[in-house]
Amino acid sequence: MPSRIVLMGAPGAGKGTQAMELAKSLGVPHLSTGDLLRGAVAERTALGLRADGYMRAGQLVPDSLVLDILKERIDRPDAQHGFVLDGYPRNMEQANALDAIIPIDLVLVFTVPESELMVRMTERRICPACGRTYNLVTLPPKLHGQCDVDGTELVHRTDDRPETVATRLRTFHAATSPVFDHYRMSGRLHSIDATGTPQQVRTRLMAAVHAADVAAAAPGRSAAHPS
Ligand SMILES: [Zn+2]
Repeated sequence: MPSRIVLMGAPGAGKGTQAMELAKSLGVPHLSTGDLLRGAVAERTALGLRADGYMRAGQLVPDSLVLDILKERIDRPDAQHGFVLDGYPRNMEQANALDAIIPIDLVLVFTVPESELMVRMTERRICPACGRTYNLVTLPPKLHGQCDVDGTELVHRTDDRPETVATRLRTFHAATSPVFDHYRMSGRLHSIDATGTPQQVRTRLMAAVHAADVAAAAPGRSAAHPS
C-alpha cells in the first residue's frame, strides 16, 4: 500500500475531510501544515516558539520553518509507516524541499470543474454565532437566511465573493500546475473526480490508492527503468 500520500486540491474541492478519513482508514497520521503549526506552538517546542514569534508579530511563518516543523513531525514514530499530507506542497519550491526530506509515493489531486467550485464557494453562507456553514444550492438552511441551530442571520464572507474566489482559484492554479507536472512526470500523480457525494469521492479515493498499490507491485512499472 502506498503510504506516503499527498492530497492536493483547489479551495472548495473538499479534500480536508477526505484527507482525515483516508488517514484513519490507512492507520497513518493526517498531517496538515496549519494543524502542525498550531500543534508545535501549543506544545511549545523550540520550532513552535519560533513560529509563534512570527505569528504574534502578524507575519507569515517562513517556508523553511514550516518545513522544519513538518520534518520533525514526519520523524516521529507514528509516521514511520506513512502519512497523509494535506495541503502541502503548494508550490514548486515546497515540492522540491519535500522531495529532499522524504520520498512521496502517491499524489492525489481532487479535481472539480471550475464552475462547480464557484458555486460551492460563492453560495456558501456561514453562521457568525455557531460557525456552521451552509450552501444556498447544495445545503440550504431550513428558513431562508437563518441558521437552523440558533436562528442567527447567515453571512456571506468576503473570501467567498465571486471576484475573491476567482482570484484565489487563479493563484492556486498558477502555483500548483508546475507541481502537478512534476509529480505526473514521475508517475506519482492520480486525479480524483471530486464531484458527487462525499461517499462517492471516498470510494474513488480508495480505488486510486489500491490501484497505485497494484501498479507498484507490477513489474516494469517505472518508465525510468526499462530493463
Ligand atoms: Zn448558528
